[in-house]
Amino acid sequence: MEKEKSAAKLLQEKLCVQRKNGVLRTSEEDMKLCDEYCENYKSFMDTAKIEREAVEFAEAAAVKAGYKPFEKNMSLKAGDKVYYVNRKKAVILAYIGKEPVSEGVHIAAAHIDSPRLDLKQNPLYENDETAYFKTHYYGGIKKYQWGTIPLALHGVIVKADGTSVRVSIGEDESDPVFCVTDLLPHLAQEQMKRSAGEILKGEELNILIGSRPFRDDDVSEKVKLNIMSLLNEKYGITESDFVSAELESVPALKARDIGFDRSMIGAYGHDDKVCAYTALTALLDCKEIPQKTAVVVLTDKEETGSDGNTGLRSSYLKYFIHDLAECFGMDGRTVLSRSECLSADVNAAFDPTFPDVVERRNAAFINYGVVVTKFTGSRGKSGTSDASAEFVGRVRKLMDDNNVVWQTGELGKVDLGGGGTVAAYIANLNVDTIDVGVPVLCMHAPYEIVSKLDVYMTYKAFVSFLSE
Ligand code: MN
Ligand code: MN
Repeated sequence: MEKEKSAAKLLQEKLCVQRKNGVLRTSEEDMKLCDEYCENYKSFMDTAKIEREAVEFAEAAAVKAGYKPFEKNMSLKAGDKVYYVNRKKAVILAYIGKEPVSEGVHIAAAHIDSPRLDLKQNPLYENDETAYFKTHYYGGIKKYQWGTIPLALHGVIVKADGTSVRVSIGEDESDPVFCVTDLLPHLAQEQMKRSAGEILKGEELNILIGSRPFRDDDVSEKVKLNIMSLLNEKYGITESDFVSAELESVPALKARDIGFDRSMIGAYGHDDKVCAYTALTALLDCKEIPQKTAVVVLTDKEETGSDGNTGLRSSYLKYFIHDLAECFGMDGRTVLSRSECLSADVNAAFDPTFPDVVERRNAAFINYGVVVTKFTGSRGKSGTSDASAEFVGRVRKLMDDNNVVWQTGELGKVDLGGGGTVAAYIANLNVDTIDVGVPVLCMHAPYEIVSKLDVYMTYKAFVSFLSE
């Protein structure tokens, strides 16, 4: 027999927020679906390490689900599915709803670029009979974390004749990998006096790529020549072709379960492919035609400030909505002004080893579900779009009505740091926008950690929103 609750206890339950781990608020059946869902998420993470690969994955999945390339002035009706790829590095999908688009669309946005080491335009050199690539890091990283870990190389090289070749090396077990070297502790006395941001300096993030000389006594830089000879054999390139390449060095690590209970996932690039995957699959899993037209945008360049024509500070999303509106003889700005957006990006998860950086009452915890964040920014909410109480109220009800485990989360203590997302750029189009996402441990590290429950609840949040 359950002990009868006191009047005070009942009143407290009625009036005060009750904290309870999300696992304890989720049925065993749902937990099983959660674990199954995360198996597919892990294989996505091993396939789509960079934005181009994420776009290819999304396009292939969309085509399989009946999506057709979007064209200006095409005739569209409820139930039609279209997609648009922006320069191979960003993609928009739309599932035309029952209501006219003039009533507004539902947008889920996430980014598919992640922090990494990009090769410079003239990357290849030989030093003391060892060959290296010079890099310029992409996004906010703790540089020292990128030494002495296995690195893979992904991207594209455009050759002098205009043809291009794709590169993906270091993911297969039989592939070689690459590495940024670091000093042994025995000789690091001076290095360890450097500030942490400079333990490995930007110009020390040099990737080791070879050490065997070309067998010939006639030339200098034989190791470099040997590497160039191998690259020419494999990709048909010469050294000058690096000038027109986008080669991204990422951790050669697979997504793995973390913990004896397998409750978490470690992987490179959860930020923000975890939101990209959950948004994408939520749209593709929509069984019935949604009321509102559902739009998913997977964007590039968030980690460097969203500038550039594949980032969300550019007009490509706005133009897509305008073009979509025109297909129905509507004007784009009316559609945008009535639209809503879940801007999906990861949030900092509370780390019990470093409790002092957050204010506990407003921090996000792993296993407490999808994080709903009214405002981001820093130092007096600078740089945030700050969702209205009305829109937060609407999203909160949507989550509760659909049994989505959710929490709030502010990125760190006031004035301690902070960060922005693409939310502000979408809100600036006159769209009601709020931040949602998955809490992440070790964000921006080569290996980031999420909880499976939070991944699944983020998926459920998108299903609720996009299938409305
Ligand atoms: Mn992010
Ligand atoms: Mn980030």
